[in-house]
Amino acid sequence: MKALLKKSQGFEGVDLDEIQEPITKSNEIKVKVYAAGICGTDLHIIHDEYPYTPPVAMGHEYSGTVVEVGEEVEKFQIGDRVVSLTAIVTCGSCRYCNQGLLMLCEHRKSIGSGVHGAFAEYIVIPAKSAYKIPENISLDEAVLTEPLACAVRCIMERGRVNGGDFVLISGPGTIGLLALQVVKANGGNCIVIGTSHDKERLNLALEMGAMAVIDVEEENSEERLMALTKQQGFDVAIECAGVSISLNNCIKLLRKQGMLIQMGLFGKKIEFDSDLSLIKELNYVNGFATEPTSWEIALRLLEYKHVDVLPLISNKLSIDNWQEAIHLAEQKVGYKTLLLPNT
Ligand SMILES: [Zn+2]
Ligand SMILES: [Zn+2]
Repeated sequence: MKALLKKSQGFEGVDLDEIQEPITKSNEIKVKVYAAGICGTDLHIIHDEYPYTPPVAMGHEYSGTVVEVGEEVEKFQIGDRVVSLTAIVTCGSCRYCNQGLLMLCEHRKSIGSGVHGAFAEYIVIPAKSAYKIPENISLDEAVLTEPLACAVRCIMERGRVNGGDFVLISGPGTIGLLALQVVKANGGNCIVIGTSHDKERLNLALEMGAMAVIDVEEENSEERLMALTKQQGFDVAIECAGVSISLNNCIKLLRKQGMLIQMGLFGKKIEFDSDLSLIKELNYVNGFATEPTSWEIALRLLEYKHVDVLPLISNKLSIDNWQEAIHLAEQKVGYKTLLLPNT
């Protein structure tokens, strides 16, 4: 089968190749991948900024249809539409596994980095890692379940938004716009910030229910932001851009004892104003991808229409055009770029 592999260092180490189709074990299901989203993490893997075990098929945000079911599996049938957790290999006995924290397992391997992922025609996963897609959700929309679950993990499980909170979202990309909708579902007032490059994204943020959007490069942006919070500062700031200036803006604009939620991955060491964060007694939380509970909440948010992911799907390309797809993702053309391995 076709698979987009990261084989070795650098962009030259990425190649569309033929690999053997995976074999389905008794507790597993085999899924024909419909589409897989290109995530910032995939780009970090391509540039060797995120750990991976080569050669590995990248891709961890996907949806597909079950084509084979192991003999012990009762939960799924051929034809079921599914999504799955990323942390599919875990030891089951470390302190984190015992708490159900699969991403933190000492021996975890995730699809797309540690084991073959979804930039491939088929993927085989343990049945216990998979979830049925609600009937009213399309396969296109379901691809976004994983990044939505990341937002749920950070904002609802690790962090917290109270009704009426002033919430700053820094970075109006896919993650920022998912975070916006999760915050709205929790009753927060969202203000989204970006730069002059983000005009269209900021407009979409308004359409998705942001209370205000502000280009931080414009004059008096800080004063305007503080005025929006009645000079109190933000209760919660969610860093979604993965750049240090954005993190420092969050620290500056938070109120004392506010909550800083880190969602963006920087891909390198960065500088931030640690003393200001200390003086304000900020609560700093982050989240490493998702846990099973995050998926259940994410699927419910989708099913009951608290979140609309359709406007975030911008590009759909056959895996044969993977170079162009990666280019679109790197240049941040639109929002999500999907690779179709079977088209
Ligand atoms: Zn992702
Ligand atoms: Zn473990």
